[in-house]
Amino acid sequence: MRLVLVGPPGAGKGTQAQFVAAHLAVPNISTGEIFRANVTRRTDLGLQAKQYMDAGRLVPDEVTINMVRDRLAEPDAGDGFLLDGFPRTVPQAVALDKTLADLGTALDVVLELVVDEDEVIRRLSGRRNCRGCGKVWHLEFDAPTRDGICDRCSGELFLRDDDKPEVIAERLRVYTRDTAPLVDYYGPQNKLVGIDATGPVEDVTLRAIDTLRSYEKS
Ligand code: ADP
Ligand code: ADP
Repeated sequence: MRLVLVGPPGAGKGTQAQFVAAHLAVPNISTGEIFRANVTRRTDLGLQAKQYMDAGRLVPDEVTINMVRDRLAEPDAGDGFLLDGFPRTVPQAVALDKTLADLGTALDVVLELVVDEDEVIRRLSGRRNCRGCGKVWHLEFDAPTRDGICDRCSGELFLRDDDKPEVIAERLRVYTRDTAPLVDYYGPQNKLVGIDATGPVEDVTLRAIDTLRSYEKS
C-alpha cells in the first residue's frame, strides 16, 4: 500500500506511523526524522533545513521534494510505503503524484489524523524525545518511570526546540495556511479519509487499520 499520513503537528503521526507501517509491512518514511538525522550529522541538507525547522517553518519545497524523490527510488519503497509528514504543501502533493506516475504507480490513500488544537498543544508541549534511541515519550500520556530518562535505553530526554510554545504557535499557523489546503487537493481525488485520533494510542491504531482495510488491494 502507498499511504500518506497527514495531520497537524502533534496529532500522533509518528506514533501511529510505527504501528501502521509494521502492520502493512511497508517502510515508514518520516521527512521530519530524515531532516533531524541530517541536522545531527551536520550534513549540507541538515544545515539547509535547520534554520527553517528551528523557526517552525517548512523547509523549502524544492529541497524537500528532491529528498523524498531520492528516498522513494530506493528498492524498499518499490512495493509500498507510509509517508509521515510529506506532502505538507500542495506543490509537494503535485510533485509526489508526478514522481509516482513516473514510476508507473499512484497513491492509494491519504489518512488524516483529526485532533483539535487544544489537544495538539497538550501533546506537543508534553512531548519528550530520547537522545539515545529516539523514542518519543509524553510527560502526561506516556511518562517514563524516571524523570528525564528513557526507560528503553536510559538515554537523556529532551524537549525539541520546535516544541517550545512560541514555535508551536508558528507551526500551527503554517499548518493552517500551507498544509490544510491538501484537503481540497486530495478530496476530489477520493483519496482522503479522516479518523478521530483522540483517545488511547491503541484505539487510534485499530481505527486506522480498520479504515485502511477498504483501500488494500485484493
Ligand atoms: P506527530 O508526529 O504528529 O507530531 P507524535 O506521534 O510525535 O505526533 O505525538 C505527539 C505527542 O503526543 C507525543 O509525545 C506522543 O507520545 C503523544 N501522543 C501520541 N498519540 C497520543 C494519543 N493517542 N494520546 C495521547 N498522547 C499521544
Ligand atoms: P511534527 O512531528 O511535529 O509533525 P515533523 O517531525 O514531521 O513535525 O517535522 C519537523 C519539521 O521538519 C517541520 O516543522 C519542518 O520544518 C520540517 N519538515 C518536515 N516535513 C516537511 C515537509 N514535508 N516540508 C517541509 N518541511 C518539513
